[in-house]
Amino acid sequence: MNFKTYKYVVAGSGFFGAVVAERIASKLKQPVLIVEKRNHTGGNCYSKDHAATGIHYHPYGTHIFHTSNELVWEYINRFTDFNGYHHQVLTTYNNKVYQMPINLETINSFYNLNLKPFEVVEFIQGEAAKSGINNPQNFEEKAISLMGQPLYDAFIRGYSIKQWGCDPKQIPSSILKRLPFRSDYNESYFFDPWQSIPTHGYAFIFDKLLKNPLIKVELGCDFFHIKSHISENALVIYSGPIDRLFSYKFGRLTWRRLSFKERVKNVRDFQGTSVMNYAEESVPYTRIHEPRHLHPERDYPVNKSLVIQEYSHADNGEDPYYPLGGDANTELLNKYKAELQRHKNLIVGGRLGDYKYYDMDQTIASALDTFEKIRSTHDG
Ligand SMILES: Cc1cc2nc3c(=O)[nH]c(=O)nc-3n(C[C@H](O)[C@H](O)[C@H](O)COP(=O)(O)OP(=O)(O)OC[C@H]3O[C@@H](n4cnc5c(N)ncnc54)[C@H](O)[C@@H]3O)c2cc1C
Repeated sequence: MNFKTYKYVVAGSGFFGAVVAERIASKLKQPVLIVEKRNHTGGNCYSKDHAATGIHYHPYGTHIFHTSNELVWEYINRFTDFNGYHHQVLTTYNNKVYQMPINLETINSFYNLNLKPFEVVEFIQGEAAKSGINNPQNFEEKAISLMGQPLYDAFIRGYSIKQWGCDPKQIPSSILKRLPFRSDYNESYFFDPWQSIPTHGYAFIFDKLLKNPLIKVELGCDFFHIKSHISENALVIYSGPIDRLFSYKFGRLTWRRLSFKERVKNVRDFQGTSVMNYAEESVPYTRIHEPRHLHPERDYPVNKSLVIQEYSHADNGEDPYYPLGGDANTELLNKYKAELQRHKNLIVGGRLGDYKYYDMDQTIASALDTFEKIRSTHDG
């Protein structure tokens, strides 16, 4: 294949790369090459049918589309419709199931009380005051000073240790910005006006995004293997890890990685919901996903369900999921960003390029912005 003919080369086919490519092809009417090192498009949002059960699932973790951004909502609706699914999360602690985020139902159930919304804030303040923490110095102290020790120990401590792989005392207190509970029975996980699951799954969206004949997708193709074959004048839009782009010259950014264990259970419904958190440190996984609940409109087997346990691990960029953040990583990131300024034909974005947790709508918004910059500075 002659890579040199392409004026636009996109590395990565997640939402960032796919949306930028779609815009270039449909608005600038220019050919775009996408190279994707995996054997499918869609990045971590990829979805497929499970072979043994036919249940549609998200192999890189359950993805719920939700947004308050009208522009993004209008854009994504050109490529899919949604099935009306509304997200709720539950957590198991001590063999009992509670609503998450912590709300009035969680508190009443945990303390075996029947508090009213106008009573609960004062009650929790009383619990928090027992800790005697007035000047919290870290995540743990801040959480206890806001919700009290019992709720923290039950729902936050063990889960945070598993998720972030460190003592919560080492996490900066700035992570906790809002009051970590709701004083009503609202069990909706997201507040956004638009939230749901794409009716035909995410892979369908990516097929549609990339179906313009001006877009050529090369799967199983690592950008670094073809980099030397592309035109010097090409504009490269790269959505892989930024430290890898510069051969880790300043050092490696650190991440958390997830792994998933899939099991088929011989029951129609294993846990009654799509995502169940496991709060205790002694349970090795953080969550169990049951994807049949994401598509209540589908005809699935009555005697089988797919369940997926999720585990969290340290990662130094081999299989990055969540940026770990912190001062040392921020310092490193700033060095890479400064280095990037020296390359005028190179744009870096997406969750890996920006070393930032983005929800899908934020990724799409950032890709649409990036395209507008390309249009204003590179078109022609
Ligand atoms: C467990 C989990 C659950 C999530 N759940 C939600 C949710 O419920 N709702 C929500 O809105 N968001 C969710 N997100 C966030 C969502 O996954 C991201 O917003 C989205 O994937 C970001 O898209 P992206 O294109 O930046 O990155 P990615 O989807 O990671 O795509 C990057 C692509 O680049 C490719 N690539 C990297 N390096 C190279 C290279 N050298 N050459 C070629 N290709 C390369 C990768 O293979 C990948 O396909 C979740 C994230 C995680 C980790």
